Amino acid sequence: MKKIRILAVLAAGLAIAACTSTAEKSGGTETYTGTGTGFNGPIEVSLTMQGNRIKDFEVLSSKDTGFILRRALPVLKERILEANSPVVDSVSGASFTSFGIKAAVADAAKKTGKDFGSVTFMTRGPEEKPVTLKNVSTEVLIVGGGPAGLSAAIEAGRAGAKVIVVEKLDILSGNGKYDRNFFDLADTETQKKYGFEDSADKFYGELMARTSGLDTPERLRVFADWSATTDAWLRQMGVKLEFLLDGKRGHMKGETEYAGEYIQDALEREIAALGIDVRTGTKGTDLIMEDRAAKGVTVQHKNESYSIYADTIIIATGGFAANQELLKRYRPDVADYPTSNQISNTGDFIPVFEKYGIAMANMDRLSIFSYTLIPSRDLSSSTEPGTEMILINTEGKRFVNERSSGIDRAIWAQPEKMAWYVFDEQAKKAGARIRTQIEKGFGVTGNNPAELAAAMKVDQTNLTAALESYNRAARGQGSDPAGRNPASMRQLTPPYYALPVRPVVHMTKGGVMANEKAQVLYENGTVVPNLYAAGEVTNTIDGAYAAAVIFGRVAGTQAAAQVAGK
Ligand SMILES: Cc1cc2nc3c(=O)[nH]c(=O)nc-3n(C[C@H](O)[C@H](O)[C@H](O)COP(=O)(O)OP(=O)(O)OC[C@H]3O[C@@H](n4cnc5c(N)ncnc54)[C@H](O)[C@@H]3O)c2cc1C
Repeated sequence: MKKIRILAVLAAGLAIAACTSTAEKSGGTETYTGTGTGFNGPIEVSLTMQGNRIKDFEVLSSKDTGFILRRALPVLKERILEANSPVVDSVSGASFTSFGIKAAVADAAKKTGKDFGSVTFMTRGPEEKPVTLKNVSTEVLIVGGGPAGLSAAIEAGRAGAKVIVVEKLDILSGNGKYDRNFFDLADTETQKKYGFEDSADKFYGELMARTSGLDTPERLRVFADWSATTDAWLRQMGVKLEFLLDGKRGHMKGETEYAGEYIQDALEREIAALGIDVRTGTKGTDLIMEDRAAKGVTVQHKNESYSIYADTIIIATGGFAANQELLKRYRPDVADYPTSNQISNTGDFIPVFEKYGIAMANMDRLSIFSYTLIPSRDLSSSTEPGTEMILINTEGKRFVNERSSGIDRAIWAQPEKMAWYVFDEQAKKAGARIRTQIEKGFGVTGNNPAELAAAMKVDQTNLTAALESYNRAARGQGSDPAGRNPASMRQLTPPYYALPVRPVVHMTKGGVMANEKAQVLYENGTVVPNLYAAGEVTNTIDGAYAAAVIFGRVAGTQAAAQVAGK
C-alpha cells in the first residue's frame, strides 16, 4: 500500500493531497478515498476512520473554486466530525462544494462498511432543537458581509464604534470573491508605473458623462474622490494591485490573478483583527422603525428570530439577480436567464423599503453578461487585441454577428440555450481569461475542424463550413454570412479552442436611493434617520466592486461619526 503524499497546504489550512490507494491502515486508523461531485466536477477526499468514528478527512482534488473550498471546508469539517456523519447541513454559499464533499465522505465511509445511505444535494442534518436568542444592541449594525458591508465594518471599527455584521450565508464575501478586477481606482501607484495619468477630477468627468444624470453629481464626486484614496487604503492592508487589465483603471493582482479573492482575504483578516462581532448564518428580515427613524433590524438565525437594536444601520445586502420573482417584476424579458451571482442575492430588503416608503430607482437597469462559462459562474471572453472569436451553436453553425448587440438574446434562442465560444492559438495567447479557462480544462480543443467538432460533439460538416466561410471573408474573398465587416476580421488558424458559454444576469444596477453620505432617502427626498446603504443594494449606475468598497467605506465612516457625535 502506498503512502498518502501531501502536495500542498493552503494558507487557511486546506490540505490537498495525492493518493493512489483506497485504504491505508496505521496506528488504529484506516484511511479510504471517496468521490463526490462538486460545482465544477469530481471532488476526491481521503477519510480517516478510527474504529466507528470519523477521525478526519482531507480534500485530495477538486476543480471547485479554491476560495470557496478554503472557506467552506473548515465549517463543513466541524459539522461532519461533530455529527460523526456526512448527513449534515451544507455550508450555505458553498452548497455544491458541500454536497460534493459530503458525498465523497459517504462514499469513502461505505468502503469501511459504514453506510450513511444516499447523500443527495438535498441532504440536510437532523433538525436542531430551537434555542432562544436574546435581543442585543450595538452602535453600528451592518446587514450583509460582502465588499460593501465589510468595508463599512472596517471603517466603523477603526473609528472605535461597536459593530455587528450579520451575514445570511455561512461564509462571508458576497459576490466579491468572483471579481476579476477592481475597476475604477484612480490615481494609483500602478497607474503611475504604467504611465497612465489619472486624477479624481478626470475620473469624475468620465463618471458624469457615463451616468447621464442617473446618479447625482454629489455622489459621483464622492465616488471619484474616494477612489483616489482607496489604493492607499488597500495597500495599508497589504493588498497590492500591480496589474492593469485595460492599461487604465482595471486593477488586478496579476494578469491571471483576480482582485476579488485577494482583497476579500485582506478584508476578513482586518475584520478579525478589529475583533468585530460577525454573525454568519443570520438573515436580516425587517427594519425596526420608530417615528420614521430606523432603530434596528429583526434577524433570523436558523429557525429563531431576534432583534438587533442599533444607533445606526447600514444595509449592504447586494443586488437581486438571484431572485426570479423580482426579475419578473422589473425585467420580465430576462427573468429566465441564469445568474452569475451567488444564491443569496435575492433583494430581501426591497419589500422592506417599499413598506416604509423608502425611495428606489432604476430597478430595471441590469448588467447582462453574454458569455458565462458553463458550468461555472466565471465570466468568459477576452477583449485584448488579437482575441478574435466566433460563436457556434450545438448544431455546429454560426448564428449571429459576434460584433452586434443583443448577443445574449441570440445565444438564449439557440438549442440548449448555449453557444461555443471558438477561438484559435493566437487568441489563446493574447487573452488571459480564455487561456486560463482552457488551461483549467473547461474547454475543448482540436487540431482541425473535424477534431474540434468531435470534441464539441457538434456536426462536423456544419462546423467545417462555418470556419471556412468565416475565414474566406476574413481573407477578403467574400462577404461574411453572419454580416460582419471583413475588414475587422482575422482568420482563425489551428489549433482551435472552444468554451461553452451562456448569458446571465450579472448585476442589478438600480436600488435604494442613498445620498453622497450613504444616507438612505424617503420617497419625498428626506433622510431616513440612522439608516445608511452601500453597494449593489443601492442605485449605483456606474461602478461595481469599487463602488461597493468605496460607498461601504463612506457609510462606515458616516455611521461611526454619527455615533461619536451622539
Ligand atoms: C461572477 C461575478 C464576477 C464579477 N466580477 C467583477 C469584476 O471583475 N469587477 C467588478 O467591479 N465587479 C465585479 N462583479 C460585481 C461585484 O462582485 C459586485 O458589484 C459586488 O460584490 C457588490 O458588493 P456588495 O457588498 O454590494 O454585494 P454582494 O457582494 O452581493 O454582498 C452582499 C452580501 O449580503 C448578504 N445578504 C443578502 N441578503 C441578506 C440578508 N437579508 N441578511 C444578511 N445578509 C444578506 C449576501 O449573502 C452577501 O454576502 C462581479 C460579480 C459576479 C457575480
